[in-house]
Amino acid sequence: MLYLDNSATTQIHPEVKDAMLPYLLEEYGNPSSKYYSLAENAKKAVETARDQVANLLGCKTDEIVFTSGSTEGNNMILKGIADYYGTENKHIITTKVEHPSVLETCRYLETKGFDITYLDVDRFGRIDLDNFEIIINEKPPILVSILWGNNEIGSLNPIRKIGELCQKYNIRFHTDATQVVGKVKFKFNKFDGLNFLTCSAHKFHGPKGVGVVVLKKDHLGLKAKITPLLHGGSQENGYRSGTLAVHNIVGMGKAAELANKKIDKNIDHILAIESSLINILSNKFHENIKFNNDFNDKLPGILSVQFLGINNEILVKQLAPIIAVSTGSACSSAKPSHVLLEIGLSINDVRNTIRFSCSSTTKSHDLDVLNKL
Ligand code: PMP
Repeated sequence: MLYLDNSATTQIHPEVKDAMLPYLLEEYGNPSSKYYSLAENAKKAVETARDQVANLLGCKTDEIVFTSGSTEGNNMILKGIADYYGTENKHIITTKVEHPSVLETCRYLETKGFDITYLDVDRFGRIDLDNFEIIINEKPPILVSILWGNNEIGSLNPIRKIGELCQKYNIRFHTDATQVVGKVKFKFNKFDGLNFLTCSAHKFHGPKGVGVVVLKKDHLGLKAKITPLLHGGSQENGYRSGTLAVHNIVGMGKAAELANKKIDKNIDHILAIESSLINILSNKFHENIKFNNDFNDKLPGILSVQFLGINNEILVKQLAPIIAVSTGSACSSAKPSHVLLEIGLSINDVRNTIRFSCSSTTKSHDLDVLNKL
């Protein structure tokens, strides 16, 4: 089967699996225990993984907090900042095209009295910087949370410029970088004004159920102030209690090391696959398809394609025995995509749209199956 749903999740790299296995079997110690070798080995393994992730993301090791993934990370930042600073001010800014883990958290916060501004986006899902500056100047929020790379159409928000504006007005800034890690070369600490970042291992060939949030230290080296989502045994410097999932963390570390080492090669490969896919689809379907993407500024490997007059649910179901694709985000597949509606597509256009997403494991010859459709 041709797997083209890599924005939903990716296959674990064999080296990631090999790195994880000992921590599921013989190395089962709890890293919070002390002195005996099982505990110390687990602790060392977690710290190695922390180094590997910090190298990929370009941050300090003590700015990393391991989580269960991006849903938790996004909840942690939004609820944690809202709780910590909510007595000062209740305004938070986000966009209309965020992942549900941001949007639904914001809706929850509204029920607790928070005032959320959902920014409009252009036809490719990006915010307007001038409008953004007017809003943060007129009504400064306690947090801005803006998606970096869109999971349905791949568009990239101007994170550097948003960070600079946030810095100018002294506003905390979080980005959900779940789709970006491993596909865009960046260093967190080179982004002025960016305070928090969320990502998840299973989007770059690591295991499911593990991710990180990066909490930038301030210019004096002081830790970020945020109410923890989980209270308990004070693991992760008290930011996130709970026994660490050592096998998953080791897997994330290995996936980060591989992603870091091969990032240029992987990006080139994914771009080559994407262009073959565009050629095959265009030659086969001609004017019966339409791309929703902005090819000038998007994540490599994500194609959002309208098959004119064809219902996407039916098509995805019919293709399922040979090709794995989706109608949009796996996290909200029951409803028509809010992202596509917000970028201005009609409900019919949305119902015609399929997302193809490639990764470094997609093989060029595997695309041949598309010619047989
Ligand atoms: N944000 C974005 C942009 C995503 O694509 C996803 C996963 N689809 C998430 C958050 C949630 O990540 P996780 O599966 O790790 O909870």
